[in-house]
Amino acid sequence: MAATSVKVSSARPAPQLDENVIVSIQSLQKSFGDTEVLRDVNIDVHRGEVVVVLGPSGSGKSTMLRCINLLEVPTGGHIYFEGKDITDKKTDINKLRTGIGMVFQSFNLFPHLSAKENVMLAQCKVLKRSKEEAEAIALEELRKVGLGDRADYMPSELSGGQQQRVAIARALAMRPHVMLFDEATSALDPELVRDVLGVMKDLAREGMTMIVVTHEMGFARDVADRVIFMDGGVVVEEGTPEAVFDHPQNERTKDFLGHIA
Ligand code: ADP
Ligand code: MG
Repeated sequence: MAATSVKVSSARPAPQLDENVIVSIQSLQKSFGDTEVLRDVNIDVHRGEVVVVLGPSGSGKSTMLRCINLLEVPTGGHIYFEGKDITDKKTDINKLRTGIGMVFQSFNLFPHLSAKENVMLAQCKVLKRSKEEAEAIALEELRKVGLGDRADYMPSELSGGQQQRVAIARALAMRPHVMLFDEATSALDPELVRDVLGVMKDLAREGMTMIVVTHEMGFARDVADRVIFMDGGVVVEEGTPEAVFDHPQNERTKDFLGHIA
């Protein structure tokens, strides 16, 4: 991945050092040319917290997640990860991404590598783990996502849901401190969604910090500690699942929930 230097906002130390806040998004802005996609996003995520982000298509959810691991460079504001300003020019992007696992809608497995080899690759290349260690961790993570018996299968021999679980295992093998999920089940046939959500629920139960963009309202209700509703590049409303689903305050939230119910 090309090194990206951040030009727009100058870095600064975290204003308050709350040890429990693992990701702090402060006044985040992102524009593409004249298009202002994120206008002023402020979110603190605590260790072990599961934050589900909802919002209509185009509201900036993916862009917000992508800013957290610098797949997009913020054009304003600050993001702190474990107390460090990621927009600091000195940020080691590879190291940052090691600490922040990301799972996308498309699994992007290497088709010529087995499930196990897909999970080993970045461990060897980025973390410089030995083949033996990487293999042991790959098998452990594949077992954890219910694919202990599929380690030597090629992606083409796996269902979409199984491929997505390999992608989750691949992210977990890096031992991230936060996991970002961007519509991880949206590309799957309905009968395969449940297994992937099951793995995500297990992760949440084990205390993983997670930021999850999803349209799975059942998951949000069951698993989220906090639900955030975004629209037009800002956080419109946030609260417990009960508060947001049962007593939404904002008209746009009501409208959105009304349409998907
Ligand atoms: P969501 O994930 O909520 O659907 P996105 O973050 O993908 O929203 O997109 C928000 C807006 O930003 C959309 O209008 C989209 O077209 C625009 N956008 C996203 N990425 C780019 C890009 N690389 N260049 C230009 N516009 C973009
Ligand atoms: Mg999106």
